[in-house]
Amino acid sequence: MKECNEGKGERVKGWTWTDRYQVYTMHCMKYEQHKARLLEEKAVLMEELSRLGIRVSGDNWEATEASQSDVGEDLGENKAEESEMADQIEMFEERTAEERALNVRYLEVITALSRLDGGSYGYCEAGGERHEIEEERLLANPAAATCVGHMERQN
Ligand SMILES: [Zn+2]
Repeated sequence: MKECNEGKGERVKGWTWTDRYQVYTMHCMKYEQHKARLLEEKAVLMEELSRLGIRVSGDNWEATEASQSDVGEDLGENKAEESEMADQIEMFEERTAEERALNVRYLEVITALSRLDGGSYGYCEAGGERHEIEEERLLANPAAATCVGHMERQN
């Protein structure tokens, strides 16, 4: 339970360490399932990101060109060199787009994980009065940063 900080931020008058410990233990248990799913997704994303490209800095990847064996598989053999070149460029563009989408999702996932560690996970980030994100919303997307109402307004 060490990683969860919920309850540490605010000192409530009369609270003992046991009270505070119980608050963040409860917070951890409540989101344990989401955390497990986020960690799992993070691992899958990292694998995919590394398959399509290389890590250029901390949390950013860039697509690399497909290996010769990948190209052969997709394009078949005996192609004119020129069209092969064009296909390779197209494939690289596809890889780049896919890598970017994966990278965006990766950032959402690690942001959610850091919010879990910081104790702000599960609260809507859209502002206003502090309110929780619906459980169904988190079940559908454990990296969600806004409640259903705010999600609909943004889209
Ligand atoms: Zn909201």
